[in-house]
Amino acid sequence: MEIKQAEFIMSAPELKQCPEERVTEYAFIGRSNVGKSSLINMMVRKKNLAKTSSTPGKTQLINFFKINDSWMLVDLPGYGYAKVAKSMKGKFHKIITDYVSRRENLVNLFVLIDSRHQPQKIDLDFMEWLGEEGIPFSIVFTKVDKISSTVLNKNLNHYKKEMLKVWEEMPKNFISSSTSEIGRAELLSYIGSVNTSLEGKFK
Ligand code: GDP
Repeated sequence: MEIKQAEFIMSAPELKQCPEERVTEYAFIGRSNVGKSSLINMMVRKKNLAKTSSTPGKTQLINFFKINDSWMLVDLPGYGYAKVAKSMKGKFHKIITDYVSRRENLVNLFVLIDSRHQPQKIDLDFMEWLGEEGIPFSIVFTKVDKISSTVLNKNLNHYKKEMLKVWEEMPKNFISSSTSEIGRAELLSYIGSVNTSLEGKFK
């Protein structure tokens, strides 16, 4: 799929203020600094569509971008900076859990993981919760340009091993680099195929 058009639609502070339009939504989430804004900008090839983490005040909002006038790319707030609490509700902002568990337009959530790091509990817990809630998601291992392919393979194998302690199989996963566009074609092709499979159900 080619991206011909990408336009900012709105920022929503809570679920009930999200757009009413019935189109497929692909949301991106991850710990602060994982490279989410850079990935979104790389996918749409616009430098400043999604604001990077240094932009104050953007963290609590859900940002909607309409792509090719047909589907929505959704930028969710970063997580991981809130004080660790025992319940899921305490760990993730309500806006995240509301959107992710109740948004009917959401057809796939991309969970971003920094490919350089060891598996982090907060990400593993979040994905376990997604599984319990039956929310379709895939993983994107970001910033792969920052490590050698040997280290990347080692880290990916380690991550898979960790996931398989809980999951029967490794969820669908991608690698990405915002500086070299690694993963762009694969992500867009996947989104295109999901959109095609859902044609007719979203009108
Ligand atoms: P966010 O908080 O998840 O939106 O993260 P940002 O997109 O703001 O990225 C955090 C930092 O990592 C910034 O300094 C980016 O330039 C850098 N970064 C993000 N993605 C990549 C990548 O794929 N490769 C490299 N080398 N740096 C990246």
